[in-house]
This record gives sequence, structure tokens and C-alpha cells, in this order.
Amino acid sequence: MHISDRLSTIKPSLTLSVNTRAMELRAQGVQITSLAVGEPDFPTPKHICDAAKAAIDENFCRYTAVAGIPELRKAVAGYFKQFYDADIAPENTIICAGGKHALFNFIQATVNPGDEVLIPAPYWLSYPPLVTLAGGKPVTVPATSEHGFKVTPAMLEPYRTDKTTLLILNSPSNPSGAVYTADELDALLDWAEAHNVFVLCDEMYDQLVFAPAKMASAIHRFIKKPEGIAILGGMSKSFAMTGWRVGYLVGHPELIKKISSMQGHSTSNICSIAQKAALAALTGPMDCLHTMREAFQRRRDLAMDIIAGWPWAVCPRPDGAFYLFVDVHACYGKEVHNSTEICTKLLEEANVAVVPGAAFGDDNCIRLSYAVADDVLRNALLAMGKVFARLYAQK
Ligand code: PLP
Repeated sequence: MHISDRLSTIKPSLTLSVNTRAMELRAQGVQITSLAVGEPDFPTPKHICDAAKAAIDENFCRYTAVAGIPELRKAVAGYFKQFYDADIAPENTIICAGGKHALFNFIQATVNPGDEVLIPAPYWLSYPPLVTLAGGKPVTVPATSEHGFKVTPAMLEPYRTDKTTLLILNSPSNPSGAVYTADELDALLDWAEAHNVFVLCDEMYDQLVFAPAKMASAIHRFIKKPEGIAILGGMSKSFAMTGWRVGYLVGHPELIKKISSMQGHSTSNICSIAQKAALAALTGPMDCLHTMREAFQRRRDLAMDIIAGWPWAVCPRPDGAFYLFVDVHACYGKEVHNSTEICTKLLEEANVAVVPGAAFGDDNCIRLSYAVADDVLRNALLAMGKVFARLYAQK
């Protein structure tokens, strides 16, 4: 069969072997707890679902404008006013089928073959393949647990060449939950500006930052220099709307127009009903954000209390998202030698599914999600702790 050369570069996800093993164990009747999920465990808030039902009843079922219904683009602009006191125009926004689609569009629109794209590791696992698909070269910059999984300009500089055109920043981060402070973000954006490097700031988890930490959005810097920065956001994580597939990109109007033309030849507008749901989310009551954030913060603390008693683990306390990225390489050596093997061991002995850090560019670590009920999280961690303790004692 004829498959394009482009697709030959796309590899199956590293999570696959652990998932396959989890499915085999489930088929044998073993109860597996999954801490591998990348989505909130809360239902989409009722007022958002009601808006979608009303849209169906009103037969809001036709094609819409490709970049999104004008009210929704205005609501995205309004969101930045409400939470960041920043003034942007609807023309700075485009609505895409989830954050992932916004990212795909952005990379297709900005990366030329041979361009080098700086990606701090650990990274969200879709960044490198999407860069490769556009003919670009992903250049990973290690930001290990010692650095709190964050990079500085000094850490980026050795990786910059005359082909470097783009830097992808993600705060709060998936997989580490690390959040850049306003000063740290400013320093990175100053560095990028000085070297004419475009920056994509993935702010998908912007509502999931735990006090006293504060979300530092790049939106103010975007307003000052819209041709050098774009921001990615969406409804999936903050509003518990993963399945609705609504994301957005904030960018220079010229970039947005180009992406809109491309989107017009691929997906066209996203689902009309989902747009009405997103509109209700962005213009409706926001107390649901607080409720979910509070639950995630409580679980983060619960998990960190347990992990603090693990001499084999290094886990900088994350300030956001709903993940822990735990450096467990102190347990490697005899029975397990990398993150995939340790995840398989956790699955078989503790019956807990977590994701190997290798999938995110750091093989010393594992990622676990705390988007599960408190007692499920506690029991899973206690079971994992026993496996780690045994592996650690062997060394
Ligand atoms: N950016 C980050 C950092 C993510 O973790 C995800 C989803 O896991 C996305 C973007 C994409 O989100 P969506 O589900 O809206 O495509």
C-alpha cells in the first residue's frame, strides 16, 4: 500500500505496550486502577450541557463561519479580559477542534522544512511528531527534576542555531505540572525576542494553578508583540470538556487568517453544537472552575504527602495541572532499567497503570494523573510504594 513518506516518521505512542498489558490483565479479571488518564474526572458542568441541548432543539446544525461563530471568538477575547485584564480582538482568535488541532494548525502554518523547534523536555507528547510532520526538526532541551522541570534562557542557548525558529513553552505543564512564574516567563520571552524566535505558549491548563502560585499568561507580551507570540488554549481541561473538542489559538490576525484558510480546506468549522457549549462555558458562571481546582489541589497535596515518604523518588511539587512527574530512576538497576519496564512492573504487581516518562522525553520518570477520587489515588500510591520499596531495596 502506498503511504506517504511524511507519515513514516510518525511512531506509535510509547504508552502502547503498557496499555496493551493493562488490557490483557483486565481481560483476565484483574482490577486495574488507572492513573494514566489525561482528563478531569468531573462531568461537564450542567449549564454547559444545557446550552448544547438548547442548540440542538433550536436546530443550530448548519455550517458556521470557519474560524468559529463570532460570539464565541468574542467570548475567547472576553475570557482574556476577564482573567488577565488583557484586550484582544475576536480577529486574534480562531476556534479549532481541540487544543491539539489548534497546535497542528499552528505548526503547519509556521514551521518550514528544516526549521528547528526548541521543545523543553519533559514535553507534551504531541509536540515532536507534529513538528516532524511539518518537516521541522524537534530539538529537545532537557529540563530535568533538578531544575524543577523548567528551562531558563541559559539552558536554551546551547541548543539555538541559525535554523531555530520556534520555541514551544507549556505552563502549567503536562506532564510535570510545573508553572513558570511571571519573571521566569518574561526572561524566556525576552531571550526569544532577542533572537527572533517565535514562541508558542501552550496555556491549556491555565485555570488549574494552585495558590499561592499564580498563572502567568503570555497574553500581555502577545499584545506588545503579536507577530512573535501565539497562545494556545481550550475548554478541555479547565472546563472538563475533553470530548467536546473545542480549543483556540490566539495570534496575529494575519496568522489567524492563514490558519482559517487552511482550516476551511480541512475540518471547516468545528461542531456547531460544541461551539454553543463553549460559548456558555466562557460567558457563564465560573464557580465550577474553583470547585474543580480545589479538588485537584487537595489531591496534589494528598499525593505529595505520600511521595514525601519515598526515599527513592524526586518529585518537585507541581503548582498546576493534574499530573505528577516522579523521578524514580533510583529504583532502576536489577529488575527494571527504564520507565517502560517500571510501569509494566507497577501494572503487574500493584495493578496501577501510569505512563512511562520516556513518552514525554524523560526516561527517569513516570507520569501519574490525580484526576481520580481521593481514596483511589491514596490506595494506588500505597500499592505503588510497595513495589518501589522492593525494587529500591535490591540495589
Ligand atoms: N496541550 C497540552 C499541554 C495538553 O496536555 C493537551 C491535552 O492533553 C492539549 C494541549 C490538547 O488538548 P485537547 O484535548 O483540547 O486537544
